[in-house]
Amino acid sequence: MQGFISGITKLKNEDIIVQIITKTKFLHLYRFYGLRHSIINIGRKVDFDIEYSGQFIPKMRNIVQLGFVWENDYTRLYYWQQLLKLLNKHLRDTEEIPEFYFNLLNNGALFLSKQSPNRVLIEIYANLLAFEGRLNIEDSCFICNKQLDSKVAVTRGFLCAHNHCLLEDSQTIDKDLFFDFLRDKRSVFLSNNEVDYLLNVLLLGI
Ligand SMILES: [Zn+2]
Repeated sequence: MQGFISGITKLKNEDIIVQIITKTKFLHLYRFYGLRHSIINIGRKVDFDIEYSGQFIPKMRNIVQLGFVWENDYTRLYYWQQLLKLLNKHLRDTEEIPEFYFNLLNNGALFLSKQSPNRVLIEIYANLLAFEGRLNIEDSCFICNKQLDSKVAVTRGFLCAHNHCLLEDSQTIDKDLFFDFLRDKRSVFLSNNEVDYLLNVLLLGI
C-alpha cells in the first residue's frame, strides 16, 4: 500500500503512531522503534504493509521510501511538510477518505520539482476548496454581507472581506485577480508578494 506520512505521535521508548494518507483511508499505524527509522518523516511518500495482530492499532511493516528529487531541497521539504501537517489536522476525524486527497498530493509532489513551493501549495489549496465545495467566489464580504470593493482582504479558508470589517488591518489583493486564481487554480498571474500573502493565509489552517 502507498501513502503520504502526515503525522507522527511519539509514544514511550522510541515507538510511534504514524498517520498516513492513502488512496482510500486516513490510517493510524503503530511502529516499534519508529524514531530510529529515518524513512519515517512527515511528507514522505512510502510503500508499506499493514499487520493486523488483534491489537488496537495495526502495525506498519516493510516500509520503503518512494522519494522525490526535491526532498534534498530544504525549502521545498519545509513547505511540503507544513501542508501535510495541515492536512493531518483537517482529516483527523476521518477514516475513509476519497481518492482525491492522495491524488492531490501525488500531483502536487510532481509539480514541486518544477514550480516554486509556495505557488504549488496555494494551487493545491484552491483545488481542495473546490473539491470540498468551499470555494467562495461570491462578491460579498463574509462578515457584513455587503458588496466587496475592488481590493479584498483574504482570510482563513480563502474567504474575502472588507479590510475595514477585520479586527486587524490586513494586506489586500485585487478581487478580480484573486477570483480568477480561484477559478483557474493557477497562480501564474499573481506576483510573488501576492502568492506569499495567500500562502500565509493558508498556513493559518485549511
Ligand atoms: Zn464587510
